[in-house]
Amino acid sequence: MKMIDITQPVYEGMPVYKNKPEKQPNFKRNTNGHVTESRLEIDAHTGTHIDAPLHMVNDGDTFESISMNKLIGEAKVLDLTHVEDGITKADLESVTIEENDFLLLKTKNSFEDDFNFEFIYLKEDGARYLAEKKIRGVGIDSLGIERSQPEHPTHKALFAADIIVIEGLRLKDVGAKAYQMIAAPMKLIGTDASPARVVLFDKDQ
Ligand SMILES: [Zn+2]
Repeated sequence: MKMIDITQPVYEGMPVYKNKPEKQPNFKRNTNGHVTESRLEIDAHTGTHIDAPLHMVNDGDTFESISMNKLIGEAKVLDLTHVEDGITKADLESVTIEENDFLLLKTKNSFEDDFNFEFIYLKEDGARYLAEKKIRGVGIDSLGIERSQPEHPTHKALFAADIIVIEGLRLKDVGAKAYQMIAAPMKLIGTDASPARVVLFDKDQ
């Protein structure tokens, strides 16, 4: 089985949301001449990461509410590279979606390395449709699963339906089919997100 790493590398100067300098990781390398121990300053939403409901819902659940059981198992990559602007219900109706699916939305974002302010995102009606379908989780290849939607209805519709949200995936070289996925975040307590290492296993290779 071939392993495909779909994680964004984390480094100083990496692409961050809206290119905001305060979102850049900062690695402080401390050494006494013999021993080196770096201190990492990173936003919880750096690179490939998983959101917890607290991110968009006041008094929402914190990161430890997300069970690893839901982050391991089959995941289906959907080819949405033709989509302009945002992914709608109509875009998703053309593919087969089943209850408990974990869907990874591959868009044009995967072919761009710099932050694009017009990144492809999941529109509110698309999120409501996925909630109706009772999927387990959704991942996307942008640093946000929505943009330019006041009140953040996409995040809220997904969190209300207990759907896990992974952002910042890199899917350029990943074909549209089913894989085995391991999404492994840090075991953080009390936060609204965590960076994660996400890998797929291709049983056909
Ligand atoms: Zn996030």
